[in-house]
Amino acid sequence: MPLSSAHDTIVVGAGPNGLAAAITLARAGRSVLLLESSPTIGGGARSAELTLPGVVHDVCSAVHPLGVASPFFRDLPLREHGLHWVFSEAEAAHPFDDGPAVILQRSLDATAEGLGPDADAYRRAFGPLVEAADRLLPDLLAPLWPPPRHPLLMARFGWKAMASAHNAAVRLFRGERARGFFAGLAAHAILPLESAFTASFGYVFGLLGHVAGWPVARGGSQAIADALASVLTSLGGEIETGRRVTSLDDLPPARAVLLDLTPRQIVRIAGGRVRARFRRALERYRYGPAAFKLDLALSGPIPWKDPACARAATVHLGGTLEEIAAAEHAPHAGASAERPFVLVAQQSLFDTTRAPAGRHTAWAYCHVPHGSTVDMTGRIEAQIERFAPGFRDLILARHVTTPAAFERYDENYVGGDIAGGSAAFPQLFLRPSRRLVPYTTPDPRLFICSSSTPPGAGVHGMCGYHAARVALATVLR
Ligand SMILES: Cc1cc2nc3c(=O)[nH]c(=O)nc-3n(C[C@H](O)[C@H](O)[C@H](O)COP(=O)(O)OP(=O)(O)OC[C@H]3O[C@@H](n4cnc5c(N)ncnc54)[C@H](O)[C@@H]3O)c2cc1C
Repeated sequence: MPLSSAHDTIVVGAGPNGLAAAITLARAGRSVLLLESSPTIGGGARSAELTLPGVVHDVCSAVHPLGVASPFFRDLPLREHGLHWVFSEAEAAHPFDDGPAVILQRSLDATAEGLGPDADAYRRAFGPLVEAADRLLPDLLAPLWPPPRHPLLMARFGWKAMASAHNAAVRLFRGERARGFFAGLAAHAILPLESAFTASFGYVFGLLGHVAGWPVARGGSQAIADALASVLTSLGGEIETGRRVTSLDDLPPARAVLLDLTPRQIVRIAGGRVRARFRRALERYRYGPAAFKLDLALSGPIPWKDPACARAATVHLGGTLEEIAAAEHAPHAGASAERPFVLVAQQSLFDTTRAPAGRHTAWAYCHVPHGSTVDMTGRIEAQIERFAPGFRDLILARHVTTPAAFERYDENYVGGDIAGGSAAFPQLFLRPSRRLVPYTTPDPRLFICSSSTPPGAGVHGMCGYHAARVALATVLR
């Protein structure tokens, strides 16, 4: 059924990028209608009582180094609109079977000291990045075109970052602990650690630990989406939930339409608005492995073998470089790792609004093959138990999200791929197609603004911001 509207612009999808695009358009004085298929806004930034009453879980994203560092978010009055970042005492912890965990801390020196013989190597690797962070981060969170504002700095970063995480870890560090720690940071790429440019993820996530922090949102990640929506409506933007767009032909006339969707959905709803050649390019777009996730209500904090792990909201479980590399390689070979690399968030230790007194939340997921139907519950719990004996005894209730359930929850998670498509080179930069300005399509009034565009996955809004700026500079000028 055609929707009626008298808006300059329509944005489809109220994830962080759709909201960011809509805000950017509204700030420029354009009237905006944002259409969301789900009953609630937020896409990958939502929370819900998934297990027990009063226990709030982050359904998708939980930890937000990219959010707190996002130049777009930083430019918005999000605090006035209800978003409070909660910082744990340390940013991330990486335990081992024996010996102390490595703790990522704001202080470069304190982090380095925890790496023993690799302390100086760590300072040499991350020190120059920390010094240049203010200039580097905006360029890293932008498309390749227009060229970076600090090309020499970016070139120097690119030279380091183009390596595989495996090679970088071995070249930079002598010890197993520093190598494993770097592998844990790089595993956020959701790629085999032998792939080109996976070192970039290790550098960026470490850097963000030093210069921005790895916070959670007070009350749950939904607070991020709610604050963005509040900013949007304060600017006159309109949001309609429960409005699934099944064909672009059903949209009312508008000067620009921005899609917070991934290529597969765009092909499905495009009708006659996408030329055959562009359609084929979108069909060639590659999706990556999926996520398998557990949300747990616990009767107490996770009893880490090394209590230092309780200082950080995020814990990386996988131990050594070789074990993490094997775990991250498996999903790309169509296999489910026996000992998966598990990302854990323990929000309630730092945000007391998440659970009633004495109760706690745990958020834990691992990477599995695209569309996998293998139940990883036991393997995820075994990894936590390995580093926190007695953890299983604390489980009061459990909620499982399979790859198929992720796609049902948010259509952008095709096959359970939570990153809007693979970040393998060259798709890391050239996403979703090889157009010079990646947010554009052959239809001058149609734009793409999801995490399938640069700078890719994460709750930072930068894809939406850049896409809207392109629309404002062209068809909305
Ligand atoms: C398990 C998991 C853990 C994650 N952890 C983190 C983390 O800790 N930190 C972090 O920064 N990021 C994390 N992410 C990634 C992050 O959530 C995404 O990268 C981010 O949400 C992408 O934003 P987006 O706006 O591009 O898309 P989405 O957030 O996916 O939003 C797309 C929106 O479009 C809507 N939509 C889809 N089709 C239609 C249609 N036809 N009509 C109307 N509306 C439609 C969807 O319902 C959805 O609301 C995680 C994701 C998952 C799933």
